[in-house]
Amino acid sequence: MSRELDNSSLAERLDAFAALLDLAGASYYTARAYRRAAELIRATPAPVSELVRQGRVRELRGIGPGIERRLVELVETGRIAELDELEREVQPQIVGLGRFLGLSAKRSVEIAQTLGVTTPEGFREAARAGRLREVQGIGAKREAAILAALEREERPKPRRGLTLNRVRVLVEPVAAAVNGVVGGDPRRWRELSERLVIVSSDNNALDRFHELPEIVAVVDGTVGVTVEGVPVELVVAPAERFGTELLRGTGSEDYVSALEPLPTGATEEEVYAALGIPWCPPELREEPHSEEPPALLELADVRGDLHCHTTWSDGKASILEMGEAAHDRGYEYLAICDHTPSVGAVPGLTEDMVRRQGEEIAAANETLAPFRILRGIECDILRDGSLDLPDDVLAELDWVQASVHGGQRMPARELTKRTVEAMRNPHVRCLSHPKGRILNHRPENALDLDRVFEVSLQTGVALEVNGLPDRLDLSGEHVRRAVEAGVKIVVSTDAHSVRGLANMELAVHTARRGWATAADILNTRSLEAIATRR
Ligand SMILES: [Zn+2]
Ligand SMILES: [Zn+2]
Repeated sequence: MSRELDNSSLAERLDAFAALLDLAGASYYTARAYRRAAELIRATPAPVSELVRQGRVRELRGIGPGIERRLVELVETGRIAELDELEREVQPQIVGLGRFLGLSAKRSVEIAQTLGVTTPEGFREAARAGRLREVQGIGAKREAAILAALEREERPKPRRGLTLNRVRVLVEPVAAAVNGVVGGDPRRWRELSERLVIVSSDNNALDRFHELPEIVAVVDGTVGVTVEGVPVELVVAPAERFGTELLRGTGSEDYVSALEPLPTGATEEEVYAALGIPWCPPELREEPHSEEPPALLELADVRGDLHCHTTWSDGKASILEMGEAAHDRGYEYLAICDHTPSVGAVPGLTEDMVRRQGEEIAAANETLAPFRILRGIECDILRDGSLDLPDDVLAELDWVQASVHGGQRMPARELTKRTVEAMRNPHVRCLSHPKGRILNHRPENALDLDRVFEVSLQTGVALEVNGLPDRLDLSGEHVRRAVEAGVKIVVSTDAHSVRGLANMELAVHTARRGWATAADILNTRSLEAIATRR
């Protein structure tokens, strides 16, 4: 029998298996089941090998018979035969290159087999020698497209930017494994990341990088490609130049090139000091500037979350659960803002339900005092600018978010008129996700923000920075304009679960990208201070 495998080695093998299943085109759910099992095993305090041997491993939630079989094989023989086989068959390196070139995993492997190549280098050589045409189904046009893609290969980019929640899950474990720091777009908290950089001063970083199961191919020596086909650049810098390379690797390119030539420094602080300008938070490194940055908003400044959902509409947790979680985060208050009926796709609260929900909130408040759950609503703005609940109901509530859901595509004049009309309702406190964008899916609407700022100043209605990772709306650029105009801003999560409350971090960093300080943000204030519109 082989050496006893500990939990983390078992998990690693399952992760590798999941990665190969992905590449081989297995169903998303199968690969995910293996990833989850790996996660579960890592989190299990008891030695899982023992459980496997005792036939008890299925007592762990999420381990089904299929995964149990693999675990038994792994514990008994030290390997998974199908994993080895998949590795031969799938040729992860080829598939990784294929992803760059816009080829499916299956197609990449077919082409490699026809050409009789087994490495990315072999693939490139064969392609450049004009041999792609030997492959059935590749004509002149397709060949030209692949060759052009190979030309661009030097600095590959994901086809679409990655949202912050995805990119962080992807890149943080890689950075940890190579003892490095995440730079590039995620360090600046860009809403969509295209350039992922990891800077490390560990001499073994490159070797470890090559060995990571997450990295299926390395192009150009230092650009790794993840299973998802996303390029990650590794910069290895000697400790005395770490600050210089971190600054350069963080970008933006425009910002950095205005500072070039960068002095040598072990930390960014040293580099900035040598440049004779104050250290600049990464969020403010888009356009070149050498201004003294203000004391930006911090997560710890936030005293409550003013937009979340519960099981009363489309949320996953109860009022009490959301309240407890918000309390545990150190907040003083939380506004429950479930939907109203017009939202359509999900359940919405009628007048009657709003009142019954009020009773449940009152009961939760007795349990959680002095923490306060506010009676709120995310009230749809109807097409004519009226609101989806009668005024007397809205008047009972502590916090009214007004939202456009249907009809985002209206022309600027109509959409702005409709929105402004709703803002003039005396019960409305905040305009939700004003520009209505869904990153990678739906562009911003035509709402005239300058007009909205004017009305916001007149009425005291705040504008939201919605922290859902595919919204981040207002964006950093919009926040900057809003701050300059002097309007009030709320950072919110629009959480639909307890976990969703953690997206406050995204809202805060988005506001920071707009140069916002705590004073610009309404929910850095006490409950008393936000009780009324003015
Ligand atoms: Zn909404
Ligand atoms: Zn919402």
